[in-house]
Amino acid sequence: MDSVTFQHILVARDRIAGKIAATPVAASVTLSERLDVPVYLKLEHRQTTGSFKLRGASNAIAWLDAEDRKRGVVAASTGNHGRALSFAARLEGMRAVICMSRLVPANKVEEIRRLGAEIRIVGNSQDDAQVEVERLAAEEGLVMVPPFDHPAVIAGQGTLGLEIASAVADVETVLVPLSGGGLAAGIAAAVKGTRPHAKVIGISMQRGAAMKASLDAGRPVQVEEMPTLADSLGGGIGLDNRLTFSMCRDLLDDVVLLSEAEIAAGITHAYSQEREIVEGAGAVGIAALLAGKVRPRGPVVLVLSGRNIDMGLHRDIVCGKEELAA
Ligand SMILES: *Cc1c(COP(=O)(O)O)cnc(C)c1O
Repeated sequence: MDSVTFQHILVARDRIAGKIAATPVAASVTLSERLDVPVYLKLEHRQTTGSFKLRGASNAIAWLDAEDRKRGVVAASTGNHGRALSFAARLEGMRAVICMSRLVPANKVEEIRRLGAEIRIVGNSQDDAQVEVERLAAEEGLVMVPPFDHPAVIAGQGTLGLEIASAVADVETVLVPLSGGGLAAGIAAAVKGTRPHAKVIGISMQRGAAMKASLDAGRPVQVEEMPTLADSLGGGIGLDNRLTFSMCRDLLDDVVLLSEAEIAAGITHAYSQEREIVEGAGAVGIAALLAGKVRPRGPVVLVLSGRNIDMGLHRDIVCGKEELAA
C-alpha cells in the first residue's frame, strides 16, 4: 500500500465508532470577527486521553487478529501516542508495552503507567528505546504500532476529517498541526474526498520542522531536534518513510512555520478568548491566523489537536511569564 484512501477512512470510522469520542466543532466568535470569515474550532483536545492519537491507535488495534491480540502491542513514545496506545489496548484487554529512555521525567512515566501500560526504561535516548521495541517485536512477538507512518493509524486520524466535513459542509480551508504527518495526511484525504477544492494547510514550528524540510528537499531528511512549546510536533519523519511523506507532498496545499512567541500567543488566545486549555501543538492553527500567516477567504476549520501540557508551564504562558527561546 502506498496511500490511504477515502474508502479506508470510511472503514476506519465504522471500526472505531464507540471507542473514541466524536468531538464537537465550535464557532469562534472572536476569530471570525478578526478574520472576517467564519472560523470554527474542532475541539479534538477534548478527545479521551487528551489528543486525536486515540483514533489511529484504536484503528490499528482493531485490525489485529486473535493471535496478535494475545501477544499485545509495543511502541516507543513518551507522549500522546503512548497514552493513546495504552488506553486503546486496555479497552480491549490487551497488553501494551511502552519503551522509554532513562531521561524521561517521572511524571510522564507515571501518566502512561496509569493508563494501563507496562513501562520499559532502557538506555539514554529515544533511539535506545526504539531498539528495545524492535527486540520485543522480534523476540516476544509484540506488534509494533508506530505513531504516524502506518496505514491504519493514518486512516484512524482521517476520521477527524470526516467529522469536519460533515459539521462544516462549506469548509474551504482546514489548518492542521503537522509533525510526522499522519494527522495531516488522514485529514487531507478525508476532507478532499468530500470537498475536492478545499485547501488543507499544515502548521509546524520553526524549531525543527522535519516534514517541511523534507518537502522542500523532495525526500525525507533529518533535522536537528530542538526544544519547542509545540513539543508534540518534535521528532523526525523517518528516513525510510513509507506513506506520510508522499501523502503530505500530494495532498497538502501549503506548510506554514511559527515562532515560539506566535505559538505562545495561540495558547493564550485559546485560554483567554475561547476558554480552552490546549498544548502548544494544539494551538498552532489559532497561532497561524493571529500571526497573519494564513489568510483564508472562506469558512476555515482549525484542529485543536491536544491538551497535554504541563499546567505550570501553561500558567506561566497565559500570565506572560514564560521566557521564550528565539
Ligand atoms: C502527534 C501530534 C500532532 C502531530 O501529528 P502527526 O501525525 O505526527 O503529524 C499534533 N498535535 C498533537 C497534540 C499530537 O499529539
